Amino acid sequence: MEKEYVIGVDLGGTKILTAIADLEGNIIERVRKDTEANKGKDIVIQRLKDTVYEVAKKADLDLSQVKGIGLGCPGPLDIESGIIKHTPNLDLDNVNIVEELSDLNIPIFLENDANAAALGEKWFGAGKSAKNLIYITVSTGIGGGIILNNEIYHGANSGAGEIGHITLIPDSDVKCGCGNYGCWEALASGTALSRMGREAVKSDQDTLIDDLVDNLSDINGATIAEAVTKGDKVAQEIINRLADYLGIGIASLINIFNPDTIVIGGGVSQSWNLLEDKVICTIKARAMESLVEDVEVVTAELGNDVGVLGAIAAALAELNLL
Ligand SMILES: [Zn+2]
Repeated sequence: MEKEYVIGVDLGGTKILTAIADLEGNIIERVRKDTEANKGKDIVIQRLKDTVYEVAKKADLDLSQVKGIGLGCPGPLDIESGIIKHTPNLDLDNVNIVEELSDLNIPIFLENDANAAALGEKWFGAGKSAKNLIYITVSTGIGGGIILNNEIYHGANSGAGEIGHITLIPDSDVKCGCGNYGCWEALASGTALSRMGREAVKSDQDTLIDDLVDNLSDINGATIAEAVTKGDKVAQEIINRLADYLGIGIASLINIFNPDTIVIGGGVSQSWNLLEDKVICTIKARAMESLVEDVEVVTAELGNDVGVLGAIAAALAELNLL
C-alpha cells in the first residue's frame, strides 16, 4: 500500500503556510506564499490551491496519497458547512471555502486558527500529556482554543473559544475591536501593553520607555520588556498590571473548565519570564484552590509552525488518526 499523508494549511491575512506531513505529524515539505489578500477572493483561493500542488510536488508525492487537508482560518467560521463567515484581513466573507477547494478531490477539514493552534500544541507541542487543555494566544489580541477530553470544544455553532472578549472591567473606557468596552484582550494583550506604555509617557511619568523608540506609536510589548530589564519602575508596573489581568482571566477559565494544562502562546509569551510569577500568584489568589493544584501553566513550543502543525493535527483528528 502506498504511504499516506496529510496536508496542513495555515491561511493568514499576509501569508499562506502549507506543509505535508506523514500520519505521525512529521513535516516532509513546506511551501510559503504571500496571500495577496488585496487581489480578492479568487486569487487567494488559487494561491492556496497552488501551495497544495507545490508542496506535494516538492515532496515527490501524488495528491492521491493525501488523506485530508486541515485548513486553519481566522474566524468566525461555520465548520459544519465549510463557510468562512467573516475575516477582517481576507476578502473571504461568507465564502464556502470547502466547496471552493472541492476540485482538489481531498477531504478538507476547516478549523478556526486558534483552535488549530490548540490542537497543534496538544498533539505535537507543549501539551502532549494533556487531556483538557486551554491554549491562550496573547499577541495583538487574545485568542483561545479549548480542548476537552482530547477534542476541540466547538460550541453550538463553532464559535466557542472567544476568550479574549470576556468582559474583565465593566466600566472600563478601553474599547475593544469587537465594540465592547473592557474586554480581556483590550486590557491584557500586546496592544494593551503598547497603550499603557504610551499613556505612561504622555502623563510624564518618570520612565525611559520613550527613550527606546523614535515615535510613541513604535512602543510595543518588546519596548516595555526592554525597559523592565533596564530597571524601569514604570514599565515594571505596566507588566505587573498586565500579568494581573492575565491571571484574572486565566483563573476564570480554570474555574469554568478545570483544565490540566494551560498553554500560553503568541508574542507576549516571549516575555513570559517577566510575567510568570505575578500571573501564577494572581491565579492562585483567584481560582478555586482545588482546581489550581493540578494545573500546569506552560509556554507554547511550536513557534511559527503552530498554525501549520495545528492544521495538520486538525486533519489527523478528523480522520481519527491521533
Ligand atoms: Zn472584545
